[in-house]
This record gives sequence, structure tokens and C-alpha cells, in this order.
Amino acid sequence: MNFHVLTLFPDMIMQGLGTSITGRAIKQGKLNIEAVDIRDFSEDKHRRVDDYTYGGGAGMLMQAQPVYDAWQSVMTGIAKRQGADDFSEVANQVRTVYVTPQGRPFTQKMAEEFASCRDLVILCGHYEGIDERVLEETVTDYVSIGDYVLTGGELAAMVIVDAVSRLVPEVLGNEESAQFESFHGDLLEYPQYSRPEVWHKRQVPKVLLSGNTREIEKWRLEQSKLRTRERRPDLYAAYEKLQAAFACMKEADKRLHIDMLECISRGRGELLCWENDEILIQDRGSRVLFHTWLTEGWDCEDPHVQESLAGKYHLDNIFQRYPEILEKNDCICTHQQVVMQELEQMGFEVSCPCYQAVCTRREKLPVTGLYRPDGKPTDQGLTIRQLTPEYWEVVADWYHRAEDEEDYAYVRSRVLDGAIYGAFLGEELAGFIGFHEEGSIGMLEVTPKYQRMHIGMALETYMANDCLEKGWTPYGQVIVGNEASLAVQRKMGLYLSKGLIYWMHKK
Ligand code: SAM
Repeated sequence: MNFHVLTLFPDMIMQGLGTSITGRAIKQGKLNIEAVDIRDFSEDKHRRVDDYTYGGGAGMLMQAQPVYDAWQSVMTGIAKRQGADDFSEVANQVRTVYVTPQGRPFTQKMAEEFASCRDLVILCGHYEGIDERVLEETVTDYVSIGDYVLTGGELAAMVIVDAVSRLVPEVLGNEESAQFESFHGDLLEYPQYSRPEVWHKRQVPKVLLSGNTREIEKWRLEQSKLRTRERRPDLYAAYEKLQAAFACMKEADKRLHIDMLECISRGRGELLCWENDEILIQDRGSRVLFHTWLTEGWDCEDPHVQESLAGKYHLDNIFQRYPEILEKNDCICTHQQVVMQELEQMGFEVSCPCYQAVCTRREKLPVTGLYRPDGKPTDQGLTIRQLTPEYWEVVADWYHRAEDEEDYAYVRSRVLDGAIYGAFLGEELAGFIGFHEEGSIGMLEVTPKYQRMHIGMALETYMANDCLEKGWTPYGQVIVGNEASLAVQRKMGLYLSKGLIYWMHKK
């Protein structure tokens, strides 16, 4: 991940972050942190970047021009690396955070959201702050690290970089895992103990010495709950509500809701709204919003029942009540057809109705061999590996959905994010597959030359096993009418949902 910090004190940033875990990650190339000196962009011969504020008042203000030029130079660098022609092509995809006491309070959820970005730009203010006009043109997020005023934004930027970095894959070693700790899944961490077994006559809880992993996990979850309820009742209430929504969706239709359930179990789901059996879950790792409506009667074939429910929905539409939620998201995945019609009227278009395909096995899938197109087994070796950035054009050109510019940009960003895996016969790319941004397995393509060799199965098996290793339930979505894909899912023993989900994209 790349951090770009715009600051008047670059040394402070590099010295602060160049030690300990972040320092190690920089050396290993897992993180890239550049501190850009805003003074280098001053047009003043004394490198001044501040001036008096209009209207009078104490203190100086950072001027718009040097801040804007520093920001533009960072954006131009990012555009170049991503193969875009101009900074404006990436400017609305890359987040620019202004650290300010007037921002939204920084939380672990925000850190998770930022950790899914490839590049993050952080702007540090000084003196009285920064000219409002340049903030309006560049900033996407206003973030505060607490209700107090610091002399400058550098400490705040370092806090954010530190908290985000430890969520970037491979930044923490095994001994520093970020997987089970406070705020993951909305709970505080359980109490922990190290040697000796007895200290000051205090004994380590017996269960931790038992070696029984299930019991230990159970105890830890209980302790986390107790601790959160006691110390942070606000967090605990949110946790309980999310768990209740999870249980309801699971009971209503586990297969249909697998995307929402997985979003929650993988620690990315936030319950935005739950009213009248209607649930909105935000995927924190992307701009995808999940929606379902559990009201009984939806699966009733009687057209009168359907019509009356649709009429009710038209009058009382959750998206009309919370328009700001729609503004924040580019894609909505809804699990009720009638909502799709409402969303169409609100500026979204349907891209594809899909079945959910769910792998219910807990143990890994067997890896099968390859076959020649005539059906005979072949010992030709296949290797599957994560695609490096230089493959993005091949993949985007090839991917059948990449018909318009948006799809093209999406596929490009999935490759750059390391979410696409290629199947190679020798050094030749024979097919690929990947994780969509919200976590489903998809984008499977096999080149015509190598079709009917079971390369698709090999790729799907690889991805499913990767999910199982992480403790996830593997799932994908199959567009209605894609018989070839439906056949592969059945052959692999995946279960299909009866109902459909509908992807809607902002026009
Ligand atoms: N006059 C500004 C106000 O009242 O909002 C405060 C300016 S402060 C002295 C200088 C800079 O420090 C700010 O522009 C901001 O970048 C940073 N800063 C101060 N307190 C902060 C906080 N709690 N969180 C994040 N950044 C902060």
C-alpha cells in the first residue's frame, strides 16, 4: 500500500514511521510511505506557504496554491503508475484525507476502509489550518483523531498510517496478528496471559492450558462479550444488533443471503439500517451496499400479494428515507426484485440478476487433474498464481464484461489490488479468476484454446480452498442464463440459491 503524506515537516513523518513495524514493512517493500514537502511547491522565493486570513483574526493560514500543486504532483505520480494518461483520471478514485479536529472521529472501521485502498493521500495542516478552497477541490475525507487541538497534522497522519498499515497483508508477522483483536467484529479483545502460570498468586484461567481449541475460542468470545458490555456498552449494542440481523437473514434464506452473511462473518459488514424487516449492510471494504427485505410473502406466487407488497414498498421506500446512503455507494446488491424497480427510478441500472452458488463443505476440495479437449487426462502441469500488475491490460481486454470504461477500470483495479489469479500452462496464461471487491469469487475466464480441459474447475477449486483456509464460506454468483457456469458449479458440488439477487449500478 502507498501512503502519500503532504506536510511541512517531512522528516517528522519519515522518522516517526521509519522505525519498528512500519519501518520494517517499508524496508521489505510491503509499504511505501512518501512525505511530500509542501514548501517545495511554494512560488515564494523564501518558500513561504502561509499568509494572513481574510477578515482578520489571529494566526496564519496555509495558502491554496502550494497545497494544490503538491497534491496534483502526487496524483500525477499515481496516475502514471496506474497507466492513466492524466491525474484527473485517478483523482476521483484516490482518497485524500485532511486531518483536522473538525473531521469524523478516526475508528478501526475507518482504518479497515482505508486499508482496502491502494493509495491514500493524507494532508497535514499547520498554523490555523488550510485555505478552504483547496480543501473543497481535493479532500474526500475529513478525519479527526480526537476532540483536542494539535499544533499540526503530522501526529494525526502518523496515527492513521500506523493503524492502517497493520491491516495491510503481511505487514504484521505471525506474532503480531491483527486478526483477532479489539474492534474486529465490533468486540473488544479478550484478556490475555503469558508465562508464568501463577504470578502474585494469580492463576492463568485453566481453559487456556487445556489445549482444547474449541473451548478456548468459546471462552475468548464470552470474555470479549463480557468486557465489551462492561467497558463499551455502545459497541456491545451495535454488536448484538448485527448478530440478530445475521441470525434473521440466515434463518430466512441462508443461500440467498450468503453474500451478506459472509460480509458480516469476514468482519467487513456494518449494519446501516434495520427497519420493518428491511436490512441494509454496508461492505466497509468497498462502495457496495447490500439490501434485503425479509417480509413474509415475497416468495408467494399469488400476484395479488406481490402487487400489494410492491405498492406498500413504493409508498415506504427505505432509499427515499435515507438518500445519503445511496450517495455513498456505487453498487447496490439487492435481494428483492421489487426494490430493483424502485432503484431504477432513483438513478441505478440493473446489471445482472444472479444466483448465489455456495460451497457448504468445511474441508478442502480435492484438486483434480487436467484433461485434453478430447476428454483424456493429461499430465500437462498447471500452476496458479496471483497476477502481477503488468497483466492488467491482458485481463481487462479479455474479460467479457469489460465492455465499457467503468468495467475496464474495475478489472484494472482488481489486478492492481492483487485480487486476480492466473492459471499458467508453462508461461502461457490460460485463464484467470478473482475475488470481486465485496468478496465473491468471480471473473472466471478460460482462453478458447484451453477450454474443456477443466482449467475453470482448477481455478475455482483453488479459490474455494483459499477461502476455506481463511475460515470463510466460499461463494460466487452466476448470471442467470450462463449454463456453462451453472454446470461447473453443480459439478463442484456447490449449492445454488432458489431466489435471485440483483446488482444495480449507479448510472
Ligand atoms: N484552527 C483549526 C481549528 O480550529 O479547527 C485548528 C488548526 S490546528 C492548530 C493545525 C492543524 O493540526 C490542523 O490543520 C490539522 O491538520 C491538525 N490537527 C489539529 N488537531 C487535530 C486533531 N484532533 N485531529 C486531526 N488533526 C488535527
